[in-house]
Amino acid sequence: MKRILIPTIAVVLVSGSAALAECKCGIAKVENGWCADCKVGYVAGVKIKSDALFESLQGHEVDEAKIKCPSCTKAHKAGGYCEACKAGFIGGNAYHSWVAYRLANGEFKRVDDIKCATCRKAAEGSGWCESCGVGYVAHHKLTDKAEYEKAVQAQKVLRLAAESKCEKCAVAMVSDGKCEQCKVEYANGEKIKSGSGG
Ligand SMILES: [Zn+2]
Ligand SMILES: [Zn+2]
Ligand SMILES: [Zn+2]
Ligand SMILES: [Zn+2]
Repeated sequence: MKRILIPTIAVVLVSGSAALAECKCGIAKVENGWCADCKVGYVAGVKIKSDALFESLQGHEVDEAKIKCPSCTKAHKAGGYCEACKAGFIGGNAYHSWVAYRLANGEFKRVDDIKCATCRKAAEGSGWCESCGVGYVAHHKLTDKAEYEKAVQAQKVLRLAAESKCEKCAVAMVSDGKCEQCKVEYANGEKIKSGSGG
């Protein structure tokens, strides 16, 4: 069977977007979404093939009344991170992955809205602009250099996690967790050397 050829180029161009309606990769890349058609997700420009990893990076709305830890309650109100619980809060959403929290931190900026050329270049990937005194990691503007550096580190760990052959290790890497299957524990995206055992 021969494919039916569309007669004019103009029609091809017009129907081009309609033909790709199923694939949402374009939007997913910008909005940190999941493309069900390709079975890939994107967070901070990193392509994620594991839905378990992608899901672990999502923020969840939480009821303040249900938060027991005072440090978390404070973080939930003002936005911030609770080191004890390893949970971050942004806009009322809780992130149980420090990587997700770090990458959701800061103000989202469209490249088109940025006037400074150095900043614009940084927003497309990551970088710090000395003259403006601001940094960008995957379109998120950060004014605090320490926070910026943590976001850069988070993006690095996410890249490593996305390449991990073990899905459970990938999730553990981004959330300071443990992979029961491989018996490996992670802190800040790195394996914790097992000590004297016990
Ligand atoms: Zn797609
Ligand atoms: Zn807490
Ligand atoms: Zn700048
Ligand atoms: Zn593992």
